[in-house]
Amino acid sequence: MQEVDVLVVGGGLSGLAAAVAAAASGARTMLLERGSALGGNVSQAYVHTFCGLFEAPGNAEDFVYANPGFTPWFTEGLRKQGAACAPEVHGRVAVMPVYPPRLAEYAYAISRDFPSLSIQLNATLERLTMDAAGAEKAVAVYRQQGVEKSVAAVTVIDATGDATAGALAGAAVVMPTAEQLQNATLIFRVSGANRADLSGYSRLRISAAIARGAQQGELPAMCESIFIRPGELQDEAYISLNLPKWKDRVFAPLNEQFLVEYTAYAHELAHSLTVFLRKHVSGWAECHLLSWPAAIGIRESRRLSGRYVMTEKDILSGAQRDDVVARSTWPVELWHDHYHATFQYPEAVCDIPLAALLSQSHDNMGMAGRCMSGSNEALGALRVLGTAMATGEAVGIAAALAVDQGVTMAQVSAAAVRACRDDLINTTFIQP
Ligand SMILES: Cc1cc2nc3c(=O)[nH]c(=O)nc-3n(C[C@H](O)[C@H](O)[C@H](O)COP(=O)(O)OP(=O)(O)OC[C@H]3O[C@@H](n4cnc5c(N)ncnc54)[C@H](O)[C@@H]3O)c2cc1C
Repeated sequence: MQEVDVLVVGGGLSGLAAAVAAAASGARTMLLERGSALGGNVSQAYVHTFCGLFEAPGNAEDFVYANPGFTPWFTEGLRKQGAACAPEVHGRVAVMPVYPPRLAEYAYAISRDFPSLSIQLNATLERLTMDAAGAEKAVAVYRQQGVEKSVAAVTVIDATGDATAGALAGAAVVMPTAEQLQNATLIFRVSGANRADLSGYSRLRISAAIARGAQQGELPAMCESIFIRPGELQDEAYISLNLPKWKDRVFAPLNEQFLVEYTAYAHELAHSLTVFLRKHVSGWAECHLLSWPAAIGIRESRRLSGRYVMTEKDILSGAQRDDVVARSTWPVELWHDHYHATFQYPEAVCDIPLAALLSQSHDNMGMAGRCMSGSNEALGALRVLGTAMATGEAVGIAAALAVDQGVTMAQVSAAAVRACRDDLINTTFIQP
């Protein structure tokens, strides 16, 4: 059986950051990703904007990165490749548009620069045996293109978004109720978009035409809430179709059968929308579906119980802590219907402690990104991509330090993680 120091499960941006940081800190690291590309929700669900990168509401135009290290290194690297655009100010926050297919390619390219990092694509974790006290190595069984394989690891990082590794290992997890879970969105790509309608207030013309079409019965009623952004090609656009929960069926994003049926329903709505744009909106006669995403965009599902649970109050008050390892800046953004999100803005940047990235029950398990430890409301802020990368980097360093020091992850100090990250900033995560 293959042996590694750090096993990262999930190749979204939190998992990528964790794996690169662990490998850069000297750990033999393996990353398992069930999809055929790195990037998680970016490459699989076409999420195409980085939120939570920059400091300070109120200071949005300064574009000061809230977290040093992997996040600016990776993001600025993307921009240099033309895979991400200049930041844009949207009201009180700043975001950075990215091009999903280009991001997946860049993520793979940088991972190859770390000889102690092994990336396994099309590799789905199926079983994980782990001793809660961290005295024994964990054994993970995964399936890669039909072949069952196994790997032993000292430490494990759950970056699956759904706390799948934690659940398989019997770690303490939290599953919100169907009512608490945020609504999902299908983001799809079209060609033949009228470029003039893709920026500023002109975008409202399309949203208004679609809302009118739904009211007048030319479109299914549930198509009424969309958002549209330009893609990389001249006539390409991303359309985000916000989906209602079904009235007669429990919203169950971890249930495969539910997801199959819900995705088919979403595709049907998106098809109607494309036909409507082509037939009824001037300048869109050539609009055609370019591609569906590999997966519908699920904002929230299961998460791990951590040694600290981030709260809405932490986020909104800008809580400061001595054991900080990453920082959160995004507002509490909650999608509790398909019409719109609610936003609550923080007073200041909020500190994330290492304890929110460590499993409450398993001493050698950490987590990052969408399945880190927090309340539903806190995760409305913490789940965004800028914060996912920063938490991934921190927990990847903690996992590597535990191996290096011969202790469990639960015994690693936040100060040691910060010191190691400062070293990486000088040696590896040098700004391009
Ligand atoms: C519709 C939608 C719109 C969003 N808009 C934005 C936005 O504009 N800006 C922003 O910053 N954020 C946005 N987000 C949030 C953001 O996309 C996610 O929270 C972010 O992707 C979290 O990253 P992650 O690495 O934690 O998880 P994910 O991106 O979900 O990655 C998890 C990875 O784990 C893999 N995986 C899961 N199970 C297994 C297994 N058993 N074995 C191996 N691999 C496994 C998955 O294939 C996936 O690649 C949006 C999310 C959604 C759904």
